[in-house]
Amino acid sequence: LPPVGVFALQGDVREHVAVLAQLGADVREVRTPAQLAEVGGLVIPGGESSVMDKLSRLFGLRDPLRDRIATGMPVYGTCAGLIMLADRLHDAIEGQLSLGGLDVAVRRNAFGTQLDSFETDLAVPALGEPPVHAVFIRAPVVDEVGAGVEVLASLDDGRVVAVEQGRLMGTSFHPEVAGETRFHARFLDHVAAAS
Ligand code: GLN
Repeated sequence: LPPVGVFALQGDVREHVAVLAQLGADVREVRTPAQLAEVGGLVIPGGESSVMDKLSRLFGLRDPLRDRIATGMPVYGTCAGLIMLADRLHDAIEGQLSLGGLDVAVRRNAFGTQLDSFETDLAVPALGEPPVHAVFIRAPVVDEVGAGVEVLASLDDGRVVAVEQGRLMGTSFHPEVAGETRFHARFLDHVAAAS
């Protein structure tokens, strides 16, 4: 397996590095185009997507990231990382860009104040049993799903919170803070298949 990266300009980088290392991956923090060139897959963490956008432009990572996504690099985005992977954004801040790749529309901060943060057990058929303990923190939801996108999980009210399209995967929630490793294992399977 090639080394895998965690986008490390902003967000909960350490938690993702820990899960990937626990699964036996050679994990690198990615802050520069040169570091990006060395990895065979990338996790984009949770955090603040508008800041990730600004910093990725400032550090010259935006175009290399878009190139790698366009040429098939496996990427897994959690929360803000899902927002970064979405082709279309709802309720983005003025001027905010995503990287794109996933043919979805994602709404930022989709849960009102009372549900700002919450946890729930979520059935994810692609991952089998047991259900995923999903932690949502000022989380986005997937508003629109394109034809080539597979829905991996939805809330009871039908709102989509986990998707996959080819080797791109995104979740509204944070498996990395709940001891859940199966999404990262699936990401590593994508990396193995791509290399
Ligand atoms: N609300 C954040 C955003 O819009 C995402 C929150 C998170 O990653 N936990 O980017």
